[in-house]
Amino acid sequence: MEKNSAFQNALDQLVSVKEQAGLEDDIYEQLKKPKRFMEVSIPVRMDDGRMKVFTGYRSQFNDARGPYKGGIRFHERVSEDEVKALSMWMTWKTAVIDIPLGGGKGGVIVNPKELSAGELERLSRGYIRAIAPFIGERVDIPAPDVYTDPRIMAWMLDEYEQIVGHKAPGVITGKPLSIGGSKARGYSTAQGGFYVLEELLNKIGLGKEARISIQGFGNAGANMAEIMAKNGYKITAASDTKGGVSDPGGLDIKKLEEHKKATGSVIGFAGGENLKGDILEAETDILILAALENAITKENAENVKAKVILELANGPVSPEADEILNEKGTVIVPDILANAGGVGVSYLEQVQNAYMYYWSEVEVLAKLKEMMIKGFNDVWNAKEANKTSMRNGAYILAVTRVAQAMRDRS
Ligand code: GLU
Repeated sequence: MEKNSAFQNALDQLVSVKEQAGLEDDIYEQLKKPKRFMEVSIPVRMDDGRMKVFTGYRSQFNDARGPYKGGIRFHERVSEDEVKALSMWMTWKTAVIDIPLGGGKGGVIVNPKELSAGELERLSRGYIRAIAPFIGERVDIPAPDVYTDPRIMAWMLDEYEQIVGHKAPGVITGKPLSIGGSKARGYSTAQGGFYVLEELLNKIGLGKEARISIQGFGNAGANMAEIMAKNGYKITAASDTKGGVSDPGGLDIKKLEEHKKATGSVIGFAGGENLKGDILEAETDILILAALENAITKENAENVKAKVILELANGPVSPEADEILNEKGTVIVPDILANAGGVGVSYLEQVQNAYMYYWSEVEVLAKLKEMMIKGFNDVWNAKEANKTSMRNGAYILAVTRVAQAMRDRS
């Protein structure tokens, strides 16, 4: 297994709740591996006429509760190990918010920023052609993830529909509104995280005076900053891959987004100061992790000062770091609950596709809110009943639900 293996982290988390979730050995053995794992090679004609071959993956982890579901990541660091981990986490995520879907994930090893629009389109279509025989509205439903977006989903859906010869909007979620996307899907990961965070803050008595730092200013992080600012919270620091900025009085998020759009980074923002140290170690009350896996490991966990961590990214805290933080009394809202709003609205998108009837943004948000608050309360109750952390509570809940579906089928 790789160093800092995300899949090893995922396996460690699973074994840590094996007893409490009442897992029999045979079910546990099945949950240690994806049901199906594909590696595909995608030849793409580049603009200069050469053919370049990209490597992609799709991991179909578990479909006991419903079709495999999960995004497709375009990133240089995509690996077999990472895709497997992400597909296992999707399985728990859909179970935590109790939607009738399983877990899957895909990825392509590529830096999409280096591709022209035409190359990106050919890669997206090529990837879907490679996995088309194994996906479907009732089989496996991809969606966006890191560096994939509605435009890419549109190309993928179009390619799939050409292959099967009929419309099939429900095979991909996160689509543009014009071809069957859902209102609110674009910011649903952040919105879901916000609903959950507010519930938690009410419980622990932390209010709008809290200092909030956000690691990662992409889709999830920037939307989260916007939603929090709109609701009267202060974002005191934000960062991206190039560095961070801070303002103890609260950053102007709209202006920061404009600055990032114009310059490609949050650094150098006139409405704040560039951060000297690492945002993860900054003085703050709430730390929102919205970047990639293993942001906090045993190397830096001790230096984290936040009282509350919200995991908008997948797997941002390693199991060893989790232990250190738990001992320090840090309250962590785990990824499989905190960022489930993305797949939550993907599910609502599929329901609308199946109905051929579309809801208003207000209706979608009301359904998302209900789903997230129910998920939060279920996790909280599992945490209390088992006298454990929110992460373990969420795992016990999710693994119990998935295992029950597996038993019922056997
Ligand atoms: N990529 C998102 C996630 O990690 C959304 C997946 C989906 O909508 O299927 O949860």
